[in-house]
Amino acid sequence: MHRIGFTVLAVALAGLLSGCFSWVSGIVGVRGEVVFADTGLGVRSRGEVAGQTFQTREDGRLALSVRAGVHDYTVTTLMGTDRGKVTYSGTGPLRVTVPAFSGWSRALFDELLIDERAGVTKRWEYGKTVKVWIETVPHHNGAGVAKEVLRQWESLLNLHAPPQQPALRFEFVASLYNADMTVTFHEVVEYVDPTSGKILRPDGYCALRWNRLTGRIEKADVQIRHAHARSYGLLRHEIGHCLGLGHSTNPNHLMYPTVSSNKNITTVETYYVRLLYSIGRSQALAGARPSALPEDHVVRIEYLPDGTIPQIIPDWVEDAL
Ligand SMILES: [Zn+2]
Repeated sequence: MHRIGFTVLAVALAGLLSGCFSWVSGIVGVRGEVVFADTGLGVRSRGEVAGQTFQTREDGRLALSVRAGVHDYTVTTLMGTDRGKVTYSGTGPLRVTVPAFSGWSRALFDELLIDERAGVTKRWEYGKTVKVWIETVPHHNGAGVAKEVLRQWESLLNLHAPPQQPALRFEFVASLYNADMTVTFHEVVEYVDPTSGKILRPDGYCALRWNRLTGRIEKADVQIRHAHARSYGLLRHEIGHCLGLGHSTNPNHLMYPTVSSNKNITTVETYYVRLLYSIGRSQALAGARPSALPEDHVVRIEYLPDGTIPQIIPDWVEDAL
């Protein structure tokens, strides 16, 4: 009698323990990733899955402990916050897909974000404080316009970033010599086209120097004609190039190659600039198509020995003075 009782207790205890073990082993360490829409590109994000908070690395990777099943998630990227349910099968990585924003297209991604010849995205190092020196000219307030435009881009880019961790910050500096970006005003803006040898005189341009392997922008130089110093549209467009954007083929976009003075940044362009600073560095999508725009919209001077590319992106103002 005593022996039987002991056996029953032992079986009951073993059952309890095995149940307990299976409950513990159901939760497994899982590698995961947050990817943007149908691109498969990992995006920098923060959020919560199955009640656990996470912050991804730049490539969108994360590590969690979850069990197989359906879990609630909240993911905040630079494009905004998305909530939903994700199913984890119990094996392999957990993948949370951030839906595409309104106006998303592969063609526009290729135009705005992929450098035509190098086939990579280009941008400043994430989180960098870019030191900007702006020339002050007594007879116009071009410096004031440039500052206003830089602050506009900065706040649009960082809209969904944690305040203590902005994607990019602009700091106005008093010395030209340690600046990462300069904005200067000129009677005539000109450059020699290396292919034709002709001297061309756009209304403004952005000259960039960037690393062709990492896509990292190292220097930006904006030159604007005095006659267009108060053209918000032109300044917005040139600063767009300074952030790493290319040209759009859509005439309604700010990044269309010719600009009117009052043109503003469109919502879809703010999504793309945030996407640029969300995805892993130097990324290209498989089968990225070059822009439909002719190549003379970008003047590339040969590679420098240090592996950087100097390029000039010339622009013209379409409305009359
Ligand atoms: Zn341009």
